[in-house]
Amino acid sequence: MVNLLQFDRDALGDWCGQQGEKPFRATQLFRWIHQRGERDFSAMSDLAKAFRDKLIAGAEVSGLPVASEQVALDGTIKWLFDVGHGDAVETVFIPEAERGTLCISSQAGCAVNCRFCATGHQGFSRNLSTAEIVAQLWHAEFALRARLGLAPGERAITNVVMMGMGEPLQNYGALVPALRIMLDDHGYGLSRRRVTVSTSGVVPMIDRLRDDCPVALAVSLHAPDDALRDDLVPLNRKYPIAELLASARRYLDRAPRDFITFEYCMLDGVNDSPAQAEALLALLRGDEGRPGVPCKINLIPFNPFPASGLKRSPADRVAAFAAVLQQGGIVTTVRKTRGDDIAAACGQLAGEVQDRTRVAERRERAMPVRVAAPASRRRVGPAPGHRA
Ligand code: SAH
Ligand code: SF4
Repeated sequence: MVNLLQFDRDALGDWCGQQGEKPFRATQLFRWIHQRGERDFSAMSDLAKAFRDKLIAGAEVSGLPVASEQVALDGTIKWLFDVGHGDAVETVFIPEAERGTLCISSQAGCAVNCRFCATGHQGFSRNLSTAEIVAQLWHAEFALRARLGLAPGERAITNVVMMGMGEPLQNYGALVPALRIMLDDHGYGLSRRRVTVSTSGVVPMIDRLRDDCPVALAVSLHAPDDALRDDLVPLNRKYPIAELLASARRYLDRAPRDFITFEYCMLDGVNDSPAQAEALLALLRGDEGRPGVPCKINLIPFNPFPASGLKRSPADRVAAFAAVLQQGGIVTTVRKTRGDDIAAACGQLAGEVQDRTRVAERRERAMPVRVAAPASRRRVGPAPGHRA
């Protein structure tokens, strides 16, 4: 059986062509799947009976099994999806007055291994397929429409952020068709500025995204200098800050907005001093002949999880850090924590991943004091989850 959730419209057209169907049939089929949430081919009334029979025989629209669904006091919803072989990924819906944002996972686990991230602590299991990335949106959109009693054609999800589990730019081949399905007017019809890819800084892939599918870009910076960033985001050893900022500047040529968002996770006593705020300001605004980057900064108070050994910066320290940046002329926001009672806040998403990289073991060897217990088999339940 071919799962049709894996195809963007061009690929669906090719597949329909192989079945002897005209390309416009693919558009009709695509609309049934992504605009109406239909998975029953026999209900697709404007398709010829012969084509429906072919679909029934050889294709399916197969979502992901829901392992759990939790609703937070503030209306944030977190789904845990079973992706097989002991792995599970999380998806979070964040309702706001004017929009509904879905935070989607791109991998089971993550190989980047950032020190402050629950997903990174679990290690890496595998990339999600395009169908598995799209299935998160497909499920959430149509579950929410039913729950909220929306009229046909009304959309529950207005924004997508690739800020769930995983590093989207280390799963580039599956990511791009998924983005195209989100942007397609016959699919979810999201504008490029309402779809955000967040990356820890995979420089060559930032350049490719700029050429292939330039949606809004968020870069997880977290430190104003390479020494500290090497420690917090190990990928920095491969792609240091100067290269990362140069790729962010190149991205702006094609970006749907005229700024890049930099995310900065506020860690008590690690990266939150006034001097570090000044250094960040100098780096991003540009000084001493160095070019800056037109940007906004989003400060994320660290969401603690067991075994991180790190603490959230106190609110007054976050405010002081923000004030330095703002007074320096950079628009700076502090991310509100959402869904933390169901562990759905940023960086808490742990899903359930079989650590095939044995990262917990390696970490324990490297940092015997910091890590209390191997984190690779943590269960999610009402504990670690993710984003806001
Ligand atoms: N891998 C991508 C996207 C997923 S992480 C990336 O790193 O950008 C999405 C955001 O959550 C990133 O900015 C990340 O730094 C932040 N984050 C991770 N762990 C966190 C934590 N424990 N508390 C607050 N933010 C966290
Ligand atoms: Fe991976 Fe992003 Fe977590 Fe770093 S912050 S470990 S890149 S998911």
